Amino acid sequence: MTANFYAAVADSIDAGPDRIFLETDDDRTYTRADLARESARFARMMIETGAVRGDRIAVQVDKSPACLFLYLGCLRAGLVYLPLNTAYQRSELTYFLDDAQPRIVVCKPGSFDLMRELCAGHAQVLTLDEEGRGSLADAAAVLPDEFETVDSGPDDIAVILYTSGTTGRSKGAMVTHRNLLSNARALVDCWGFSERDVLLHALPVFHIHGLFVANHCALLSGARLLWHRKFDPALVVRDLARATVMMGVPTFYTRLLAQPKFDREICRNMRLFISGSAPLLLETFKEFQTRSGQTILERYGMSEAGMICSNPLGGERRGGSVGFPLPGVTVRIADEKDRPLPRGEVGGIQVKGENVFAGYWHMPEKTREEFTADGYFRTGDVGTFDTDGYVSIVGRAKDLIISGGYNVYPKEIELALDALPGVAESAVIGIPHPDFGEAVAAVVVARKAARLDPAALIAELKKNFANYKVPKRIYLVEGLPRNAMGKVQKALLRERYSK
Ligand code: AMP
Repeated sequence: MTANFYAAVADSIDAGPDRIFLETDDDRTYTRADLARESARFARMMIETGAVRGDRIAVQVDKSPACLFLYLGCLRAGLVYLPLNTAYQRSELTYFLDDAQPRIVVCKPGSFDLMRELCAGHAQVLTLDEEGRGSLADAAAVLPDEFETVDSGPDDIAVILYTSGTTGRSKGAMVTHRNLLSNARALVDCWGFSERDVLLHALPVFHIHGLFVANHCALLSGARLLWHRKFDPALVVRDLARATVMMGVPTFYTRLLAQPKFDREICRNMRLFISGSAPLLLETFKEFQTRSGQTILERYGMSEAGMICSNPLGGERRGGSVGFPLPGVTVRIADEKDRPLPRGEVGGIQVKGENVFAGYWHMPEKTREEFTADGYFRTGDVGTFDTDGYVSIVGRAKDLIISGGYNVYPKEIELALDALPGVAESAVIGIPHPDFGEAVAAVVVARKAARLDPAALIAELKKNFANYKVPKRIYLVEGLPRNAMGKVQKALLRERYSK
């Protein structure tokens, strides 16, 4: 039996080919049969272009239904889909294209010349715009709309996801068909997806969250997608009443709360709001509950391991926690020597299961380094299990501050700062210090109209924390720098304030 992820999708298409699968924000609709036909044409097109199993297809395009069909076409043809963040510029693209050596590059029409130059004849460059037009679509349109999905082994690579890599070289995480299917099935089950669901999809599709988590839940369960080309809070408010589930990064939720029209009435058909990719502020969690009557379900995952933990659909969803390990996923908290720690202690989050990727592309050394002797993947996140088995994330290991030999977990201080009057949010970082090695510093955003005094904030923290944990300096800023997935770019802050 094939392990090709698309085979599982095909089963759900057969169960209702004429059902609408996707509806765009400008009222175009696609049935499940359309999805089968369009992905078949793309699969054929790439094979006719000379791509063979295992070849990489690099894609840097604006979000469109066509690029979802292209993704599925790659899986069907046994090709390796390689999505690239639309924000990447020349130097970043040079690295990725050189590293991955794709056979085909699909780009926006406006990037055609640049891509041709960067590929220097090694790859065929085709275009696809946000309306689904371009040389790729033209060539595919004339081809037959049937394609026999190739038999893939469970360990065949389906996708390479380059990690967002805030430090060092970005690494290509090789994700297999087995990884995709096991994780998607676990999520459909845990989050209770069914064909009655309508999923509002406003996430980018070059990242695991929008590409796998959202699409796969809909593809396997028969749910419908309300497809927004980008996150526009006003548009979300317009469409929410027609949706039952929404997935977002925390910034989506803070921006929704800033919409005066966002209320309970609009959420009347919603059964689930899911947040992930970055920590959800406790305050957002609470405010969202008050405004909408809905409790956001926070989950935790990463490119290398898919989804790892989730708050429960049925039980208590706890703010500030990412819930329990998903079925089939084993999570442990370990010390520096990979020894499991008891509940309540803080350590490295390690994970094992069918969800864990096959390694980093062309980096066997790096791959070995990230796995323990007994086969756990070191996520690089630091966290803890509480007595009820809920997991909380304290931060990234590389964000850990060691000041005068003492460990400071930034999250502990950030939570305390955020709770002070007038503070909207904060990021705690380590900056070089001649005496302590590193000193704690905080970058703080004030609430609208609030006037903050750094010295007063420091004095407040001193009441509750050991001195080494208290920021030596507090910088007031208008906003924190974030990447496309809403993650605070701490490396950038460290660089900025280390001078
Ligand atoms: P990426 O591979 O780009 O999805 O980034 C994965 C990283 O995002 C994880 O290793 C975590 O550091 C972070 N992350 C994802 N979900 C959460 C969450 N719910 N809370 C805190 N951090 C998260």
